[in-house]
Amino acid sequence: MNIKNLMSMLEARHPGEHEYFQAVGEVLISIEDVYNEHPEFEKAQIIERIVEPDRIYTFKVPWVDDNGQIHVNLGYRIQFNNAIGPYKGGIRFSPHVTLSTLKFLGFEQTFKNALTTLPMGGAKGGSDFDPTGKSPNEIMRFCQAFMLELWRFIGPEIDIPAGDIGVGAREIGYMYGMNRKLTHENTGVFTGKSIEYGGSLIRPEATGYGAFYFISQMLKNIGTDVKGKTVAVSGFGNVAWGAVLKATEMGAKVITISGPDGYVLDRDGVSGEKIDYMLELRASNNNVVKPYAEKYGVPFIAGKKPWEVKVDIAMPCATQNELNGDDAQQLKDNGVLCVAEVSNMGCTPEAIDLFIDNKILYGPGKAVNAGGVATSGLEMTQNAMHLNWSAEEVDTKLKQIMVNIHEQCVKYGTREDGYINYMKGANVASFLKVAKAMVAQGVV
Ligand code: GLU
Repeated sequence: MNIKNLMSMLEARHPGEHEYFQAVGEVLISIEDVYNEHPEFEKAQIIERIVEPDRIYTFKVPWVDDNGQIHVNLGYRIQFNNAIGPYKGGIRFSPHVTLSTLKFLGFEQTFKNALTTLPMGGAKGGSDFDPTGKSPNEIMRFCQAFMLELWRFIGPEIDIPAGDIGVGAREIGYMYGMNRKLTHENTGVFTGKSIEYGGSLIRPEATGYGAFYFISQMLKNIGTDVKGKTVAVSGFGNVAWGAVLKATEMGAKVITISGPDGYVLDRDGVSGEKIDYMLELRASNNNVVKPYAEKYGVPFIAGKKPWEVKVDIAMPCATQNELNGDDAQQLKDNGVLCVAEVSNMGCTPEAIDLFIDNKILYGPGKAVNAGGVATSGLEMTQNAMHLNWSAEEVDTKLKQIMVNIHEQCVKYGTREDGYINYMKGANVASFLKVAKAMVAQGVV
């Protein structure tokens, strides 16, 4: 494999898709050795085939706001790879969504889903629609307009969407409802549904819970635990909420949450009703955390990220590339023990290099945040069986899946000096699974 040639080929073919190149580049560097040990991969041109999505749907989404004004957004669904199971992955509504964003996310999803041990391929979708400041009726009309196109491409054995940034249970409800109306079917074609119509208990909490289970495995592996550790969390949405809940329950202390407006520093810890208040903040659709600081009388640091605060554990839970090389340096200077990406590709390549060079525990998003989609897989299983598991049952399975992902990272990422390169471990373990499935199924 010649990584340089491959990257040049991709860059010539898809000009300007930087996030996608970043995600592909990271995987290629990690898997180079193992790829070269498997001539059957080269013979089947697995790399050339795995870096391109199977297909991309792009569509126009016209909708009408509360004042009668017409808007046009773009909608996408990227079906990346279904070698190990039906396409599966979330939908993101954000003004920052571009084709490049969704391609990087779909590519990551393919490997993340392989790590979960469940049979799910990779996909991602979304729109450049900005939910900030929209009324509940506008959100509903947009979701319905989006589904008027998307419904043709999905199905419970074809492609199963879910939530992501800007898409939670409310939006999924509206999309599911429109899909039901158009198809005359009530199948579990989305995950992240509310419990009343086929959702799974623990799904809302699962990404954050899974992340903290993973972190506790990382710390256990170096002979310590999460009790009493201080944690910086970025973001304040669904993923951050689940992470704060589990961190607090397991005896760690979360001292920051953040939004696009800045971060809140709560030295007493985000706990109890303050955690519930995060949900209110998200539901308000204003995309700010400052009201938390005002309500609880704690400092608000405008326009800054929480990585300047001295903590044991850093958990980026907001969006891609939210933690850069300078942030990483600051965390290192402050003695950080563990950095776990809960957002997808939360750290820039410079930040990751700095953590690995300095033997700081670093968990990549595709391993750390896989609990969300894993629990989506458990929701699909329950839907297929037409029954519901208890919260304990789902949580036990989720915990086991995260332990298993950690073991896969250790198996493929342990270096000779004993340091575990979780990025390499996660990339190699997941690549091997998808690549072997592709070889077995021929050139299709
Ligand atoms: N959007 C989430 C992720 O990045 C969840 C996807 C799903 O549940 O399908 O993994």
